Amino acid sequence: MDSAAGSCNACGAAATALMKLSLGKDFFGRTYDRLSPSTDQSPKWYCEGCSMQKNIQRDFRDILGEFDKLAAGQHSSLSTREEFQRASLRLREISTILNGTAGRSLFLTSVEVGQLIDRMQTATMRA
Ligand SMILES: [Zn+2]
Repeated sequence: MDSAAGSCNACGAAATALMKLSLGKDFFGRTYDRLSPSTDQSPKWYCEGCSMQKNIQRDFRDILGEFDKLAAGQHSSLSTREEFQRASLRLREISTILNGTAGRSLFLTSVEVGQLIDRMQTATMRA
């Protein structure tokens, strides 16, 4: 809790426990600030619900970025079966969470997640 932060940077909730979003490692274990230094220089504060949503959004973006590379025939973290499966499972988990919060996500829609799940399934069938 940091009273100086005041309110959640996403939903504006005040008088709740706020946490600075730790960028740390991305979904594929890479150091995050290497990829988005500008984000790291202006850390934001989020309430518990929003920080979970931000983590979901971050994982989704990591997986989408790597899948786009894979689809384009470039080197991708999803080239191995293990990582591909792990990413697929994470997307299903994200989809379940988004459907559970009934459109409450401020950052990501279950439609976007569904589209990526479909694209990845199509890629699996082609392989
Ligand atoms: Zn919030």
